Amino acid sequence: MEWPEYEKKIKEFGYNRSAVSSIKQAYDFAKKAHISEKRFSGEPYFIHPVQTSLSIAKLKLDPETVSAALLHDVVENQNVKIEEIKKLFGEEVAFLVDGVTKVDKIKYKGIERTIESLRKMFLALAEDIRVVLIKLMDRLHNMQTLQFVRAEKQKRIALETLELYAPLADRLGMWEIKAELEDLAFPFVYPEEFEWLKIQVQEKREAGKKYIETLNPIVERELLRDGVKPLKIQYRIKNLFSIWQKVVKNEMDISRVRDIVAMRITVRSLEDCYQTLGVIHKLWKPVPGKIKDYIALPKPNGYQSLHTSVFGPEKKIVEFQIRTVEMDEEAKYGIAAHWVYKSNKQNPEKLKKTGEDKLRWVRQLQEWHKESEGSSTEALNALKIDFFRDRIFAFTPKGDVIDLPEGATPIDFAYNIHSEIGDKMFGAKVNGKMVQFSHQLKSGDTVEILTQKNKKPTSDWLDYAHTSMARNRIRAAVRKVGPGTAGNKKGREVLEAVVTVKDRVGVLRDVSAVFSDMGINIAGTKSGPLSREHHRLVVNFFPKKGLPNSKILTGIKKISGVESVSIKQVT
Ligand code: MN
Repeated sequence: MEWPEYEKKIKEFGYNRSAVSSIKQAYDFAKKAHISEKRFSGEPYFIHPVQTSLSIAKLKLDPETVSAALLHDVVENQNVKIEEIKKLFGEEVAFLVDGVTKVDKIKYKGIERTIESLRKMFLALAEDIRVVLIKLMDRLHNMQTLQFVRAEKQKRIALETLELYAPLADRLGMWEIKAELEDLAFPFVYPEEFEWLKIQVQEKREAGKKYIETLNPIVERELLRDGVKPLKIQYRIKNLFSIWQKVVKNEMDISRVRDIVAMRITVRSLEDCYQTLGVIHKLWKPVPGKIKDYIALPKPNGYQSLHTSVFGPEKKIVEFQIRTVEMDEEAKYGIAAHWVYKSNKQNPEKLKKTGEDKLRWVRQLQEWHKESEGSSTEALNALKIDFFRDRIFAFTPKGDVIDLPEGATPIDFAYNIHSEIGDKMFGAKVNGKMVQFSHQLKSGDTVEILTQKNKKPTSDWLDYAHTSMARNRIRAAVRKVGPGTAGNKKGREVLEAVVTVKDRVGVLRDVSAVFSDMGINIAGTKSGPLSREHHRLVVNFFPKKGLPNSKILTGIKKISGVESVSIKQVT
């Protein structure tokens, strides 16, 4: 893309004259640096940084990030020195380019590689989230051109996209990017399933659209009658890979996936959202249990909307999503919405802060990173499971939201607030009532941690702690106290479950969920390929009193894709 066309585009995204002129320098430099390089498609390489930077500009990030996106491959591919970037474009751009280059340097293979890229990604997140945003957009363009890459590399890149990049985009609240990454990767990872589903969905999608269009005027008329002016009434189509995940969950029965097409109503204010919900429920009966108020209780990634499903005309179930314009923007851009570049140059430090405050877990990652220098593959694996598992969100008595994985207990909650609070915990109240340490928290719970000055953790707390953060801190505290402390059972028995599975995304997560649902502590997991299609997962865990192994075996056998499982003792 030649400069005039590029310039026109970024001006449309709202960059002012001084921003455009600094971006032009980066544009010229990158073009020259990549001049003799080609993409696998045979096109000039420069197309790639141009597309990456335009995706960044579309998110309206600051001009430094746009420049860094243009320059993101010059160090790696063309041996340009980072000092040169610093001299020409300043400290900030150089820092971002360096960050992207470091994430790119991954020397491992297989599962080790995924863990390593995850670790690198977390490091980058901890330092400056803009590095990760550039990596996401870099991956997006690479996925858009994946057909030109050698076949044996295609699947690895696509799988990494499904396992790492798409969940990351999801956790950053960037829903559109997540959906696009998933749908680009899907056909490379599961070609046959993709072809099958595409045909299945096509018809349903058309029928769904037609049906929703007939509801459109009814909804608009009733809203206006009630004094609500809808800004937009549209349909949204679920992305193909999300449908696939739902089909798998529903025993491959696509007729049970009812939200392939949903109606989305955008209104002016918060009050209008609730009033719209009332109007819809007056028109059609809601399906019990399907009303979700993500405005009062936003998802951990910041997503806000009201969701409801109703029995529409002809008793067909149809889903509605109701939100304001701001909520809609947030759903599209996620965390990037907090870095929005304004021409009246705001303090970038301050912008960075707002974004991080919004997402507590980013801060947690930073803390975690400080403590995890040189930690083992197992610890990283455990963290990976925590990070991408379904989340719940509970409240402190002051109303702060604490974001935890499903199955978390008050101990996890306490350590999540502060290690001091965890260490000194002697009891907990959930919604005003005293509970056991083993109590499983639910979304929306208010949790009060009771502390005592001389209280110290004991190793039996490990039986109730599920997050790697809490477990690491308990272990550290128990070690400090030394052996001989009550409850510090040295040399605990460890069991090993060996599971053979048909390889699919999320299978490790599903297997570990069985353990955490039963309140069993995992000591570590390993996995590796057995054949092209099969994987072997090994889960080491501490046996739980009164829980027979047969229960665990049954739980694991129920997971789709599991072909065999056995349990034996290792210590
Ligand atoms: Mn690149």
